[in-house]
Amino acid sequence: MPTIIVDLIPQGRRNRPGYRLIPRYITIHDTANPNIGADARAHARYLKGDSAAAIPASWHFTVDDSLIIQHLPLDENGWHAGDGTGGAGNRTSIGIEICENKDGIRVEAERNAAWLTAKLLRDFSLDLAQVKQHHHWSGKNCPRVLRERPGGWSSFLEAVRLQLLPSGSTPIVGQAKATVAQAQEWARRRQAQARFVEIAPVYWYFAALTGLRPEVLYAQSAKETAFGHYGGAVQPAQNNWAGIKVEEAAGDSTADFETFGTPEEGVRGHFNHLCAYVGLKPVGEPHGRYRVVLGQPWAGKVRYVEELGGRWAVSADYGISIVRDYLNGLLAVSPPPVPELPPQEPPSPPQKPPALPDEPPEIPGPPEPGLPGEIPDPEPGFPEKPQPGGGGLLSCLSGRLLRCIYEFLKRITARVERAMVKARGEAGSD
Ligand SMILES: [Zn+2]
Repeated sequence: MPTIIVDLIPQGRRNRPGYRLIPRYITIHDTANPNIGADARAHARYLKGDSAAAIPASWHFTVDDSLIIQHLPLDENGWHAGDGTGGAGNRTSIGIEICENKDGIRVEAERNAAWLTAKLLRDFSLDLAQVKQHHHWSGKNCPRVLRERPGGWSSFLEAVRLQLLPSGSTPIVGQAKATVAQAQEWARRRQAQARFVEIAPVYWYFAALTGLRPEVLYAQSAKETAFGHYGGAVQPAQNNWAGIKVEEAAGDSTADFETFGTPEEGVRGHFNHLCAYVGLKPVGEPHGRYRVVLGQPWAGKVRYVEELGGRWAVSADYGISIVRDYLNGLLAVSPPPVPELPPQEPPSPPQKPPALPDEPPEIPGPPEPGLPGEIPDPEPGFPEKPQPGGGGLLSCLSGRLLRCIYEFLKRITARVERAMVKARGEAGSD
């Protein structure tokens, strides 16, 4: 947190007019002074001198790479916006100048300015739309550094926005902070549907492919599906773990929600959908609604679970609820000891891969065909051969963990198929 020094222009000077200011905007400037030494202290001296008084020119804060100096009280106006004595810029906005001295670190100065801007927005209950360029008021090319750098202004606003998030927000992207076993233990304790417990390893599988945190998405799915019990418009057979809608949804009926071919495809869709929010590449061909997300102004910019409120769902509390009511509980569960895998039939070499880099995920025992809650589609979720639209995943994978999960799913599939063949009395036909 940068230091703010108060060093006011003395009362009575021409550039301290003293009109009452009720801040409605924050106006951002660059000093247009790249000279060595033209830092915040130099501008404080300038504002107290005769040349600034003669113009008259004044603003509320100058920010450099290590310091913020305040020159005017925040209930008095300055002359900085170039829109005249009665102009809204001069009379209703707090002016911030960002230093561009060559001997300063510009990126740090911008970071400090973003911090200050966020603080002022909070202090005066303003929102991001009330941060304006000097250009907005008078047409001047200011803040020139931010304006002339491609994406400069939008990245400044983004930095302000990130400063406004509550401290301790929950990143969506990053390393997993929970194991599959831990997540499954949590799900069981919350009386999850068996299918919800069984799908957990697939979340860790796609996390490794995308960079999203699997426990975050798993917790979101718990909220969206009531731990796999559903009960709303989305039907379990739709394999939709996250309430994702169809591209041209008209309402909230069952038909307005996407149907995925398999439970694993549903998890892939869940990851791809969130990839559009945070700006990561999707895995394979995305579903239709993915494109709708890409068209949103915030697409690719969401960083924290708490930001999903009002975006993924209407409720502003949506993301906060994922963390408070689901994720925190998941993370608080102690991972259970990893049991041995149940014996395979027929007797076969040990199935458990040796020496995984981390604690291996608990792999649930293979479900018996026909049990309620079984993953219904016997097709393997991860095709070995490239297929149109999202196939060939393994070709771009490495890592024993993923191989392990894949082998596990393949074994289940083979068993299910064998059982089905047996059931039809066609044994021996393979
Ligand atoms: Zn300016």
